[in-house]
This record gives sequence, structure tokens and C-alpha cells, in this order.
Amino acid sequence: MWITTEITEDTEGKLSIPPMKIFSVSSVVKTILAVSIPLCLLIYALAMPHKPTMTNKSENSAAAKPDKPAEAALSKLTPEQFYVTQQKGTEPAFTGKYWNHHEAGKYRCVVCGAELFTSDSKFDSGCGWPSFDRHQGNTVDTQIDSTHGMQREEIICRKCGAHLGHVFPDGPTDTGLRYCVNSASLDFEPKDAGEKK
Ligand SMILES: [Zn+2]
Repeated sequence: MWITTEITEDTEGKLSIPPMKIFSVSSVVKTILAVSIPLCLLIYALAMPHKPTMTNKSENSAAAKPDKPAEAALSKLTPEQFYVTQQKGTEPAFTGKYWNHHEAGKYRCVVCGAELFTSDSKFDSGCGWPSFDRHQGNTVDTQIDSTHGMQREEIICRKCGAHLGHVFPDGPTDTGLRYCVNSASLDFEPKDAGEKK
């Protein structure tokens, strides 16, 4: 952009200042800048470590890396639970056991048992997966998921790193969020069964 400006100035300048003088000073500076700026950018680009394009949301999760789930915990999973939580799979819509589930209680991580969501935050989104407008405490992390040609925010269990689903900014409640979770990554605990909520 500034090169274009310089040329314009030169063209105008030719009317009052001898052309040779302009050429000798400004063209040298221009050449140096024109060469050095792209060169600096190239060196900078090469020196940068390879990073995902969007990292701001995943900084928290990168700082507190989840523990690797124990072999025993993984061996208890059904093939679908393993596929969803460990291989970032997605169960087909309207097939999971909790999308149309309205009982009062807690939804825990199927791998490590961390309390992720409660029935109080569950709502009918119509999308075919259990949907919540918020998660419990510090139990859920988000990270950018760029697969399938989309930019989505993946949600994972902070404790064990299990893939849960995605969170979207189109929730109908005051949080404005829709945590769209796979039933296969959840384990429901009825309110009366465990300790009081
Ligand atoms: Zn977990």
C-alpha cells in the first residue's frame, strides 16, 4: 500500500524537484524496505512453532491437561462409549438413551464419573442429543474442533479428557449456550440414588 503512495508522490514530485534526486534517495529506501519486510515476515513465519489457527479457547485446557483414563475405566466402556469418548465419535441423533430423558439427577462422565451436568440445566433442543445450557463447576473444558469443514467448540471432560460433544452459542436460556452432548459419554445418576444434590 505504501509503495503505491510513494510512487504517486514521486510522480507529483517530478514537477518541482529534479527527477534524479528523488530517484536516488527514495528508491533506495523503498528497495530496502520492499525487500526487508517480506523477508522478516518469512523468517518470522518459519521460526513460529506450528500452532492451530485458534488457540484462545483451548489455553485453559492446555494448561491443565486431563489425566489419561485408567485402562480399567476404558475396559468397562461399551464399543459406542469408547468410540464417542476416546475417538471423538458422535452417536446418531435421536438414538442415545438421554436425549429424551427427563428424570431429575446428575449426568456424570461415563469414563471417570466426574459430575458434568444436572437435570436442572437440561432442556429440549430438538436436536436429538441431550442438551444443557450450562455445565457443573470446573468439570468441562472446551477446545476448537476444525474437523468436517466446520469450526466448532468441542467439549471434553476436564478430568479425563473424554470427548463429550460440542457447545454452540445458540442456547435459548440466559446463558445463550447449548451443550450438545452424546448420551454415550454420560452416565445418569437419579437424584434419589446418590447423595443429595
Ligand atoms: Zn471424565
